[in-house]
Amino acid sequence: MDNSRKIEGFENRRVLPLQKGNIYGPVKSRRLGSSLGLNLLPRSYKLCSFNCIYCQYGLNPPQSPDMVSALYDELPTVSAIKKAILAALASLREKIDYITFSGNGEPTLHPDFPAIVEVVRDIRDRYASHVKLAILSNSTTINKPEMVEALMQLDTPIMKLDAGSEKLYKRINRPAGGVDFNKIVEGLIEFNHPNLIIQALIMGGPDLNASDDNIIKWASLLEKIKPVEVQIYSLDRPPARPDIIKLSRKELEEIAGRASELSGVPVRAF
Ligand code: SF4
Repeated sequence: MDNSRKIEGFENRRVLPLQKGNIYGPVKSRRLGSSLGLNLLPRSYKLCSFNCIYCQYGLNPPQSPDMVSALYDELPTVSAIKKAILAALASLREKIDYITFSGNGEPTLHPDFPAIVEVVRDIRDRYASHVKLAILSNSTTINKPEMVEALMQLDTPIMKLDAGSEKLYKRINRPAGGVDFNKIVEGLIEFNHPNLIIQALIMGGPDLNASDDNIIKWASLLEKIKPVEVQIYSLDRPPARPDIIKLSRKELEEIAGRASELSGVPVRAF
């Protein structure tokens, strides 16, 4: 049974406020240190090709990557992003480690993502050459050559893979139509970035991804993808749905150890 249907009263509950601008932070992150966030997505709703059951930006329907151009007018322009990042860097009062593409959904859904990466990279090279560029992506555009080329320009692509099987992927990530689990896995296997990191949110709960059965299947995919590192974490805040269980540090570390042993890839618990 699809657990999401059992708790409909929680569908629209948002745990985190949306980002109100194109730039936010710097935020202190366990994985990225001090990071200036870049939001390429609308300010009033989450725009994502997934609708993950644990999403803290609210649970609204996923958007197919091929349909986003219809929303083009609601997205920031390349020049708006350029202006915003130049202003943010000029007013920074502290040293940052990363500029991170993240924000209110999936950054690579912006049709101008490749042009924006080029502009941000150029600004970084000229004014903040010590700062690295990262992305937190859900991996759903990894089969688009122009997006892969843009992702290759970043220092640290952190790509989501929460599940080891299509069945569980559909239950957890609830993708838009046309977003195919096997194609994402193939794309990640072919994605030849020297610093590819895979991330997964691991949660307890009925038939979710902390089960040993899932960890075995997921580790076999990691073995083929061969990232430099896998980062696992659980929920930071109470989830919008009460049937999703936050794992303890000890449980996460046990899963990291097991997945690392099975896949041969370093898996770190955060
Ligand atoms: S990929 Fe991120 S933004 Fe998109 S639904 Fe999942 S948690 Fe939310």
